[in-house]
Amino acid sequence: MNEQLNKSLDKLKGIGPETKKQLEEMNIDTIYDLLEYFPYRYEDYRLRNLEEIKHEEKVTVEGKVHSEPSLVFYGKKRSRLTIKLLVENYLISVVFFNQHYLKSKLAVNELITVTGKWDQHRQTITANHLQIGSNQKAQDFEPVYTVKGSITVKGLRKFISNALSQYEGEVEEIFPDSLLTKYRLLRRKEALRIIHFPKDREELKQARRRFVYEEFLLFQLKMQGLRKYEREHSKGISQNHDVNQLRAFIDSLPFPLTSAQKRVVNEIIKDMKSPYRMNRLLQGDVGSGKTVVAAVVLYATILAGFQGALMVPTEILAEQHAESLQKLFEPFGITCALLTSSVKGKRRRELLAHLKEGKIDVLIGTHALIQEEVEFKALGLVITDEQHRFGVNQRRVLREKGTNPDVLFMTATPIPRTLAITVFGEMDVSIIDEMPAGRKTIETYWAKHDMLTRILQFMEKELSQGRQSYVICPLIEESEKLDLQNAVDVHATLSQFFQNRYQVGLMHGKLHPDEKDAMMKQFSDNKIQVLVSTTVVEVGVNVPNATFMLVYDAERFGLSQLHQLRGRVGRGDAQSYCVLIADPKTDVGKERMKIMTETNDGFVLSEKDLELRGPGDFFGKKQSGMPEFKMADMVHDYRTLETARNDAAVLIDSPVFWEGEEYKNLRKYVTDTGVFSGEKLD
Ligand code: ADP
Ligand code: MG
Repeated sequence: MNEQLNKSLDKLKGIGPETKKQLEEMNIDTIYDLLEYFPYRYEDYRLRNLEEIKHEEKVTVEGKVHSEPSLVFYGKKRSRLTIKLLVENYLISVVFFNQHYLKSKLAVNELITVTGKWDQHRQTITANHLQIGSNQKAQDFEPVYTVKGSITVKGLRKFISNALSQYEGEVEEIFPDSLLTKYRLLRRKEALRIIHFPKDREELKQARRRFVYEEFLLFQLKMQGLRKYEREHSKGISQNHDVNQLRAFIDSLPFPLTSAQKRVVNEIIKDMKSPYRMNRLLQGDVGSGKTVVAAVVLYATILAGFQGALMVPTEILAEQHAESLQKLFEPFGITCALLTSSVKGKRRRELLAHLKEGKIDVLIGTHALIQEEVEFKALGLVITDEQHRFGVNQRRVLREKGTNPDVLFMTATPIPRTLAITVFGEMDVSIIDEMPAGRKTIETYWAKHDMLTRILQFMEKELSQGRQSYVICPLIEESEKLDLQNAVDVHATLSQFFQNRYQVGLMHGKLHPDEKDAMMKQFSDNKIQVLVSTTVVEVGVNVPNATFMLVYDAERFGLSQLHQLRGRVGRGDAQSYCVLIADPKTDVGKERMKIMTETNDGFVLSEKDLELRGPGDFFGKKQSGMPEFKMADMVHDYRTLETARNDAAVLIDSPVFWEGEEYKNLRKYVTDTGVFSGEKLD
């Protein structure tokens, strides 16, 4: 970065020590930071027609004050000033909070312009901006910045203006001319001025377009640079197997692979053959058949002379996977072993010894697999299922076992493409986007709380045919106690309803893992017909006889999570049902429930979820690891994101990018991040 721009803020006119400190509180330390402190939105003062304004939209309207303002004080400093405003031939209300001093300005019949939020139901604008007279602002829109302490938006604008006039000449272009020409992008210097002081909308659009592309391109260059680095600096193993033997195994499966399964198997195998270490994400909706893909590629690693490991988040899942893999592998003389915390003493010692001697081909287990005492003879492939459940560190420890094994992460949480190429930009991604033939869709209904009795009668009809049901209660994160109470109450209600006709079990997060397993076993043995549970059943559990799911307070869940839950039914041949009880208050909430009833496609749901909730909420705050963009929006600008991704891929592989003079500045942004000293982003 240019040295001049790296200077401290007190080089600027109008910034004394106190202001400097305040700005530093806002993470603005240098002139560069100030110039790059982008508005978070633009206030829109364009006049709008009331008929086309949606509920809760921000608007500016012009009208005549129709009656004397009414002013109400409440509390010490708080007030509400209300007027009736005639806008064309509509009479609406306008409310100003805590601005009692405006009263004297608002004479009846005065023409005014107000800006604020429109409440369609109450026909009211809550105004935050008033202008006496017609809408005659020099500009009908204005940048708005996030400010703190004594810094005001107006003040900040002044500082930025000073910084621009003193230092504009120092702002460097980071794109080569060829790129600017190709996409007709504004130069950086010009775009920067426009972002802060736009003359008109078209100009602003162009400036924004430049920065959106810049942010995405830089991010993609960093991610893909990291991937390239990891690939080339992690010595992997070249795993070669006998194709005919692998084909024989695939032919022995109880069903033909779907074409999506074949495609991902090929992608994975190709990676395993390469001398680089595989770092691949396998995405596939619930029930799309990831397990059998895992089996095929595990077999390939064995054919190549290595061992494989499959790591899953719970013991129940480990057992289920061990059982189904054993069935597939047995005819081929392959030894599978299950390692969980309940394998103890002599059995454990024996198992570990066999593993080290290479007598075990595939080890299946929970995080018990990554303990230090677990040693492989020659680990070639590590697969983790439902990778969201594992921390980054656990994943790394496993990867580091053995001599650079290939790694495959499997997840059933369909991640929208936009997010996948952003968050997992440093991984290769394979997607199973097709369901095995003949799969019945789960009929999904949305019901209100007051329909419970009818729903339970519906459930009973299923139970009377020998089927089983899940009943899911939401997790209210703030209070585990409440969660539990919730589930306990529901359990009591259902036990009361079904009397002795059916057994109702209760499972929740407070149970000991052994108790959970025992409860789950009772359910899968059909000793319990109805299982009331908090979301602990979410992942992977397989009880094909369960055909009915009831979800309480469904509006509390993300769409993808609901979809995961729903995937617990519809695992057998019978038609399955899912009823969502929800009373959503907002239009978005209603939309979410509606879409659940309309599609069984996890990818469609996740795209919708992303659109409705925004990227920040998608993975949940804690584990998000989401990159933050100042200008770009992953949802709305995703086309640009794809363009940038493709461009970055070409650049990263081209010698011109690494050596060419015209790429000097752009290259610096990529190499300065520490990526190439081997530091990892995750
Ligand atoms: P998931 O991707 O959710 O882990 P599974 O691997 O558990 O899905 O597969 C779900 C079910 O579909 C299993 O019963 C499995 O045997 C079956 N299945 C997998 N692939 C196919 C296929 N190509 N044709 C028919 N059934 C399949
Ligand atoms: Mg699975």
